[in-house]
Amino acid sequence: MKNIARLIAIASLSLLNFASAAEWQVGLGSVVITPESPTWLSGYGSRDHAAEGKVHDLFAKAVAFEDERGERLVLVTCDLGSVYQGLTDQVAKGTDERWGLSKERLVINVSHTHCAPEVAIERIVFHHLSDAEEARLQAYIDEQLIPKLIELVGAAIDDLQPSTIGVSQSAALFASNRRLPVGVESGKEYVNSQNPGGVTDHDVPVMLIRGEDESLRGILFGYACHNTTLAFYQYCGDYAGFAHQYLEEAHPGATALFVMGCGGDQNPYPRHGPEGLDHCKRHGRELADAVEHAIHSPQTEVHGPLRVAYTEVMLDLEPPPTREQLEAQRTGDDSYPDRKARYLLDQLDKHGQIATTQNCPLQAARFGDELVMIFVSGETVVDYARKPKVEFAGPLVWVAGYCNDVFAYLPSYRVLMEGGYEGRSGIIHQLVPTPFATNVEDRVMGGIRRVVKEVSE
Ligand SMILES: [Zn+2]
Repeated sequence: MKNIARLIAIASLSLLNFASAAEWQVGLGSVVITPESPTWLSGYGSRDHAAEGKVHDLFAKAVAFEDERGERLVLVTCDLGSVYQGLTDQVAKGTDERWGLSKERLVINVSHTHCAPEVAIERIVFHHLSDAEEARLQAYIDEQLIPKLIELVGAAIDDLQPSTIGVSQSAALFASNRRLPVGVESGKEYVNSQNPGGVTDHDVPVMLIRGEDESLRGILFGYACHNTTLAFYQYCGDYAGFAHQYLEEAHPGATALFVMGCGGDQNPYPRHGPEGLDHCKRHGRELADAVEHAIHSPQTEVHGPLRVAYTEVMLDLEPPPTREQLEAQRTGDDSYPDRKARYLLDQLDKHGQIATTQNCPLQAARFGDELVMIFVSGETVVDYARKPKVEFAGPLVWVAGYCNDVFAYLPSYRVLMEGGYEGRSGIIHQLVPTPFATNVEDRVMGGIRRVVKEVSE
């Protein structure tokens, strides 16, 4: 009798093992994407020369999820300032041809570090590149970055193996709102400076991926804050680069992936100056410690099925300037307005018109009843994380910004109406011709609701 009971126990145990082992297949990959020769850095418009060495390497990492039915999602996270539709489309074309992974099942998220190469050749209109530097940048994008990202997705798919997934949430406090209202009596204006009373999102969502032997294989963690502690000319992942470095040192064999949240209007403080690198390491340590807190605390086990949805919404822009207005703006002094006018006049000459809309890709992935991930394009401000977390509460709601196409700041209605850098004036540094129209939030939230509904039915 005892033996029979033991046999039943063993049988149910192996059934359980089989069930949990088969529920998720997860694969991980990592590749160095530091340029082999110095390139122009993205971010700060005031840059006047190319990179000079590195603090540490820049990485792209990938995690591939596959549920019992074979549904897949691959999330690629990069130590890059930006990513653009053209680059995402080329990577997706490669992954679709080679592994049948279409763009609906692929997300490219960038950390927005300002110490990484520019990756949009069209943006050289805003820089001071020599012909040789332009050729070097083009070669980096075409011959290094894009092939490496395609191979990385393949490496994560090849690595698919039985795993368990857990999620929880922690917090870190070094991000602060950077839209400071001034001149309240004389007509409020928002300047780019620390606003300790402004809205933030200090959540650190954490996903842990464990192998069949319970070993930690993957650590996915998010935070909503610009990677702009540093303002120098060396390649560096900024605080996110240090956070994944510290986590991988503490957990040998695990791949750590940073997912940029909706930190368009959030900066790390303190920042810049002669102690910039020390501030950066401290922020990285604080974020890594927040993740450690999650690693040593109970997590919610995530079950399937996996459902993914993709949509694109068209965002209206304010009417473009006329040719006469642009010609008047061309002062020839290579100032920001001069550069922007030169770019828009070129658009008029090439296409006979200036774009009046901007495409905005949106994705959602639902992991059973436990997790909904939402992926938003653009330099997404914090309202786009706060609102979905309330509206779709139930499962853990994890909102990533800076996905697939970082075309410009993506303001909420509030930020647009307040104005300031993320609302209006930052558009001077972007290829998007003019600020967004007042229906921007309605369009974006409408698209987010559509993809979340699609994965929740
Ligand atoms: Zn930014």
